[in-house]
Amino acid sequence: KILNYGSLNIDYVYDVPHFVKAGETLSSTNRSIFAGGKGLNQSVALARAGGNVYHAGAVGKDDSKILTDVLAKDKIDFSNIAKRDCPSGHTIIQVDSNGQNCIILFGGANQTISEADIDSTLANFEAGDFMVLQNETSNIRYMIEKAYEKGMKVCFNVSPFTTELLKLPLEKCAYLIVNEIEGAAMADMPDDTDPYVLLDKLCEKFPKTSFVLTLGSRGSILREVGEKPISCKAFKVNAVDTTAAGDTFLGYLITNIATDMNRALAIKCATAASALAVQVKGATPSIPRAKDVLEFIKK
Ligand code: ADP
Repeated sequence: KILNYGSLNIDYVYDVPHFVKAGETLSSTNRSIFAGGKGLNQSVALARAGGNVYHAGAVGKDDSKILTDVLAKDKIDFSNIAKRDCPSGHTIIQVDSNGQNCIILFGGANQTISEADIDSTLANFEAGDFMVLQNETSNIRYMIEKAYEKGMKVCFNVSPFTTELLKLPLEKCAYLIVNEIEGAAMADMPDDTDPYVLLDKLCEKFPKTSFVLTLGSRGSILREVGEKPISCKAFKVNAVDTTAAGDTFLGYLITNIATDMNRALAIKCATAASALAVQVKGATPSIPRAKDVLEFIKK
């Protein structure tokens, strides 16, 4: 089983002629609503890769149908999602006529996950199951500690990165998934550090943890404990929207590791899946299905 104790956000996207200024009232010409959040995107990617996915978290009782509908469509179990008397996590996004955006994020129900919620959710899982986390929910420390005690494999995507994260028991994570900027911040090294030097430093700091380092259009490196690093170059494609590229990559890689796929193939599939994702606009609509990923690799 793969449990994603993850964020769920509703994205409210407003088209505007320019970003609203102090004191101004501005009419929007169009509003679109999407289901998103790193957690939700990652669950969809984990499931489309073929994983047996359980999403746990919290949503608002009045506005969450759009979120659970998206999970249901990909056969993701959502029986461990609590309903709260507050809004679901959401964003208010302005998109101007140049396609630039600015975003207000409200954590909402994602920030109400309690120790009692975590205890009752984890009772449904056992040693060897995977648990995926991002930094968009409350009580992450407790999630890591309890899952580790049970013998679950904690896969933590340290995004968005804050220095507060360094106080967590990260050594209890089986996998840490970072992009270059997050990795450099964790290692306390400059952003342009050579990726292998960065990995050496991270592995020295956390010797019992495997690392996934993503490098945008330059690809990625997987370094598991006791194994040689495996790198994969990104496919050369025409990127139109890199939203959810990292989430797609993570979902495919973790599902493939959970099913113990040969690692070179696992990372190649994740790279192909994210290359397909960047060619399509949007978050969940851009996440490909496993059969399309395999077809892309064969070409
Ligand atoms: P994040 O979005 O979390 O910062 P990255 O930007 O590192 O993550 O992207 C994750 C993966 O997506 C990369 O390792 C790569 O395989 C793929 N990817 C990202 N951008 C591109 C691109 N422009 N072209 C092809 N693949 C890409």
